[in-house]
Amino acid sequence: EKTYGAEFFRDWLTAVAAAVDREADRLTELDSAIGDADHGANLKRGCAAVTAALEKEPPATPGAVLVAAGRQLISTVGGASGPLYGTLLRRTGKALGDAEQVSRTALAEALATGVAAVAQLGGAQVGDKTMLDALTPGAEALGTSFAAAREAAEAGALATVPLRARKGRASYLGERSIGHQDPGATSSALLFAALAETAET
Ligand code: ADP
Ligand code: MG
Ligand code: MG
Repeated sequence: EKTYGAEFFRDWLTAVAAAVDREADRLTELDSAIGDADHGANLKRGCAAVTAALEKEPPATPGAVLVAAGRQLISTVGGASGPLYGTLLRRTGKALGDAEQVSRTALAEALATGVAAVAQLGGAQVGDKTMLDALTPGAEALGTSFAAAREAAEAGALATVPLRARKGRASYLGERSIGHQDPGATSSALLFAALAETAET
């Protein structure tokens, strides 16, 4: 199986930052419908800090790249998504250990650990209309291929529209959260789209 080193992981997170910049207005629009209209700005700030940190001191292994990025997200993103995404990357990075090269299969396994940590931290499960609705199927489909992961995460994000939010700010709206796509599930789909894009280049 093909393997990926630290540079690939830096390129992935750079592609995530570019996607977040491109989609920031849309993320904020979604968050204005069922939240407080800051998801785009939150992630833009976080991603800018991540790319700056990775450029200043490029970590030597895939695991170290993800741990460093997670740390930046936790310290720079106010709001629910910072600690959750930060935990996702930190725990995924820790699960990769100090391997110099990582296969897609190994990344899928590590990511499953990271997703479980997000579920534990936020107390949410699939169907609660959160980022987990995209992260969980995305991480699972990554066991098949990068393209399958992108599609599964995107489908998971779209599937949040008819759901009623049970966690986070959107849950305060109760029934009124129905009919809107979850901002965090939408940004999680970007994470997998950027991964597939990076793997294809
Ligand atoms: P905030 O809600 O604090 O303004 P953001 O707008 O940046 O934070 O992020 C909102 C997103 O965070 C939601 O769309 C949802 O996907 C995710 N989220 C919120 N609470 C939880 C939770 N307990 N578990 C998982 N994801 C959550
Ligand atoms: Mg918000
Ligand atoms: Mg907020």
